[in-house]
Amino acid sequence: MISRKIDQKNIDRAKALIDAAERVTIICHTGPDGDAIGSSLAAAHVLTAMGKDAKVVIPDSYQDNLRNLPGAKEIVDASKYFDFACRLLNETDLILCLDFNEPRRTGRLAEVLEGSSAPKILIDHHLDPGLKADVVISHTDMPATAYLLFRFLCRLELFNLIDKQAAECILAGMMTDTGNFAYNCNDPELYIVVAELVRKGADKEKLNNILFNTFSSNCLRLNAYAILRKMELIPEIHCSLMVLSRDELNRFHYTRGDTEGLVNKPLAIPKVVFSVFMREESDCIRVSMRSQGDFAVNDLCSEYFGGGGHLNAAGGEFYGSLDDAVAHFKSKIPEIRKRFTSKKLNYK
Ligand code: MN
Repeated sequence: MISRKIDQKNIDRAKALIDAAERVTIICHTGPDGDAIGSSLAAAHVLTAMGKDAKVVIPDSYQDNLRNLPGAKEIVDASKYFDFACRLLNETDLILCLDFNEPRRTGRLAEVLEGSSAPKILIDHHLDPGLKADVVISHTDMPATAYLLFRFLCRLELFNLIDKQAAECILAGMMTDTGNFAYNCNDPELYIVVAELVRKGADKEKLNNILFNTFSSNCLRLNAYAILRKMELIPEIHCSLMVLSRDELNRFHYTRGDTEGLVNKPLAIPKVVFSVFMREESDCIRVSMRSQGDFAVNDLCSEYFGGGGHLNAAGGEFYGSLDDAVAHFKSKIPEIRKRFTSKKLNYK
């Protein structure tokens, strides 16, 4: 048995909305990852098993490897079928919002989502939920939305409707957001859930290959290039800085997701406490930071790059050239250095 985390009032209200709905539209965030896609597909499988007409809508495209998850072929991609996606959001009895906190996280669909008169249930683990929903189930201590969704389904007494396919999708979400149980993974109940999902037939070995061991040759070469040629160590602030320009990305035929996880790699080096990765996109410089111990990168991202996130994983943006973004970051070195001298930080 696992503990009860979700408020009973929310369970009751969500149950009433689901019972009353014939058509359910499920939506997640832009650039959907394994947790967004996994949660959405799992919900669709269970709702379909309940006899509902459940459809998954995504704002834009996702990584190729996730197309191997059960049910992925039925997903409606709004970047290809925008009108159909809008119709599914407007002409439905219920919208299930998974793995995002703010309407703007659904990109072009934000306006339609907010404008739809259908009742909404939000299930998410990001900070500060800003979406107006009839039921908000937001647990920032949960490592993955898929894990929270499993708990939600159990509380609705739908455990028996989680079949092999749904189990695989839930496990995919949990594996994605914990880096295959490498971080945010010290909740013992995670492994009780994994055991239940594997018992239902989820093939963890297959998922491992789909999620963590499928790369194009270009992607492998790009990551190797970034580490070999572009990783700059800044010992005075225990930092690694990696930067990739548009030209460099193009050289390796970059597609979305190709640099996923790259920012974590330098943390393997003893004495590197935080890692910064900057990627030149068409409209801005995308900044990602990862850290270990109690060195907070969400502060750095919000102060210097108008972003935020979690203590050890955060991101932001810079509007200007890549060189200016690097110069901007480096101008903060003395300030960052003070963090290491002013308080005793706990890191490896
Ligand atoms: Mn997630």
